[in-house]
Amino acid sequence: MELTLVNHQKLIEADRATRFGPGWPGTICLAKTRQGTPCQNPVVTNRNRCRMHGGKSTGPRTPEGKARSIAAHTKHGRRSRVHVARVKAINAEPRRITYDLKRAGLLR
Ligand SMILES: [Zn+2]
Repeated sequence: MELTLVNHQKLIEADRATRFGPGWPGTICLAKTRQGTPCQNPVVTNRNRCRMHGGKSTGPRTPEGKARSIAAHTKHGRRSRVHVARVKAINAEPRRITYDLKRAGLLR
C-alpha cells in the first residue's frame, strides 16, 4: 500500500471519508465564497449556513441584546441621533438671531 499523509481514496472506499468537498454526503453550506465558488463546509445543525457564513449567529434579537450590541460598538456617539439633534438645537438660536439682525439691517 502506498503511504500518503492522508489516504483519502482508501477512506472513501472504507466509507470513512473525513474531508468535506463536493462529494460529501452531508448538508453543505449554501453560501458563496469570495472567490465566487460555493462554500463546501458542513452546515450548523438546523441551519442552512456553516459556522463562518452566519450559521452560528445572526446577531441579537431581543431589545436588550440589541442595546447591548449598540453600546459595545459605540466609540463616542458624536454622530448619534440624540447628539446631532442636541447640537442642531444649540446652533438654532444664534442662527435665528443672526437672521433677525440681517433682516433688521444691523448686520451684513
Ligand atoms: Zn459556508
